[in-house]
Parts: sequence; structure tokens; C-alpha cells
Amino acid sequence: MLTNRPRPRRRLLDIAPGDTVLVIAGRDRGKTGEVLRTLPRERKIVVRGINVVKRHTKPGRSAGGTRAIQGGIVDFEAPLDYSNVMLLCPACNRPTRIKHVVLENGIKALECRRCGEPYERTRRTEQQ
Ligand SMILES: [Zn+2]
Repeated sequence: MLTNRPRPRRRLLDIAPGDTVLVIAGRDRGKTGEVLRTLPRERKIVVRGINVVKRHTKPGRSAGGTRAIQGGIVDFEAPLDYSNVMLLCPACNRPTRIKHVVLENGIKALECRRCGEPYERTRRTEQQ
């Protein structure tokens, strides 16, 4: 299927790697964890220690990586649906949503809908 067709620009997920989220549905409901990866097109995210499954692997290379992996059974964090988690605000430490605001100087910023504090996002540029 061709996917090159221009499509209406949808806002990507409000959750980024490095954020802390609370799981609100599913097997790991109530747990919190750090977001490792996001899959915006599938609206899924991977959270450290959440949705862990055992995966049987053959010796080879890890998917998307250059690191050689041993064969055997490994713990693997399966992606979970974006709608099953909520962002945790570092300022008020409560599950929240992010509000997009534009500051007077024209800079776009994020803030917590609950406490109104600017949401400080730690950009992870180093490899995970
Ligand atoms: Zn807050």
C-alpha cells in the first residue's frame, strides 16, 4: 500500500522518551515507568518495566540496533497503547495532560493542565 500520499497533519503524541507515565489500564495498571520509545504512527509507547513479556530469540542482532544479542529467553517490553497511560507531571506528581501554549516571545511551550507549571522535558539525544 502506498503511504506517500499527503495526509492531514495530526498532532503527534504528547509523550516523549524520558517522560514518566502512569499506566491506567491493563495488566500493569497503577504502575509508573519511564518511556523508552514512542511509536507515534501506531499510537503506542514502550515503557521501562511495563508490559514485559518473555521473548524467545535466536542469536543474532537486536532489532534496529547494531548490538549482537545472545539467543535464549529475554525480557522484552512490548509496546502498549498510548491511551492506556497518562503522563505524570514532575511538578505536581499527578497524572495529567499537557497543554500546548505559546509564550509572549513566540516560543511554544508545554504546561501541566493540573498545576499550570511549565512541563520540563528532558530531551534524550543520547542513544538509549
Ligand atoms: Zn503538574
